[in-house]
Amino acid sequence: MRPELMKNIRTVEPYVPGEQPQHKVVKLNTNENPYPPAPGVRDILRNMDTDSLRLYPDPTAEKLISALADHYGVGEDQVFAGVGSDDVLSMCFLTFFNSDRPVLFPDITYSFYKVWAELYRIPYECPALDDSFRIVREDYYRENGGIIFPNPNAPTAIYEELDFVEDILSHNRDSVVIVDEAYVDFAGRSAMELIDKYDNLIVVQTFSKARSMAGMRIGYAVSNPELIRCLNDVKYSFNSYTMNQTSILCGVEAVRDTEYFNESIRKIVETREWAKEELHRLGFVFPDARANFIFARHPQCDADELFEALKKHDIYVRHWKGGRIGQYLRITIGTREEMEILFDFLNKYVKK
Ligand SMILES: *Cc1c(COP(=O)(O)O)cnc(C)c1O
Repeated sequence: MRPELMKNIRTVEPYVPGEQPQHKVVKLNTNENPYPPAPGVRDILRNMDTDSLRLYPDPTAEKLISALADHYGVGEDQVFAGVGSDDVLSMCFLTFFNSDRPVLFPDITYSFYKVWAELYRIPYECPALDDSFRIVREDYYRENGGIIFPNPNAPTAIYEELDFVEDILSHNRDSVVIVDEAYVDFAGRSAMELIDKYDNLIVVQTFSKARSMAGMRIGYAVSNPELIRCLNDVKYSFNSYTMNQTSILCGVEAVRDTEYFNESIRKIVETREWAKEELHRLGFVFPDARANFIFARHPQCDADELFEALKKHDIYVRHWKGGRIGQYLRITIGTREEMEILFDFLNKYVKK
């Protein structure tokens, strides 16, 4: 394109999602849940009144907000909902990160953060994880325009206890701190319990992982009423009808079925703990995995080659070429049966 025309065009380097192959594979590459959503979701879709689709959805997503508020024991004015947590996080960047000082997030983390910072032209710095891939809390004691990190972190799967989160919050009373808890249900306590204590905290969660609804696109933030109001004002300045009617209704059913939710988590955690033992037995090394994936390398196997060999056998995992994590593969926890297919392959591959 002509430079004269180019000069006023926003050029961005977009986020690259994991592959979504359209043929049947053992799909361990995008941290989806291998189990179906709660049965109530299926019932909603089967009995759906399609006539009502002619109407715009409820712009406030009131039913879903209310179900989430009930579930977490917070006020409805403390919950914000969006089209997946990617939408919620993007709104958070736009709303809360408006300083000349850099926003801070780890060098190895969810790669969308950098994309949004670039897109919205927010200055940012990325303190390096330490040699064991842990976030160094002291790196977040300096002046900044906001902080965001996932807990557990992605793609490392390392979970930090709440005293760590609290330490970062208390050192940054004048910055908004966003804790992206996409995987917290597989890991431990949520920072939500710190919301009344720290007015600078936003907790973001999603229906895509633990609730098996990546295809529905539902995410939410929980915070104090003031910060949630700011988020809503930005959202309504952007698009007043973000969530569709079907997602709102299905989301409500998923939130209400805590028994199904807990059972699905229990199965995945059980399979994860077994998969860790199997990987250890095969000589893989990895940080303690507390999410629904394991970030592992094998000292004798090149990650690029293993990735390609797995793919050739229709087993998809995630791999980022080069850099500090170039020798690692991120393996999502599937069903026990899917993991057995993976280990049948790895057993032969590692011993060849
Ligand atoms: C999966 C993921 C998200 C986004 O999930 P949505 O499907 O958009 O809700 C956000 N943050 C992290 C760290 C994730 O892994």
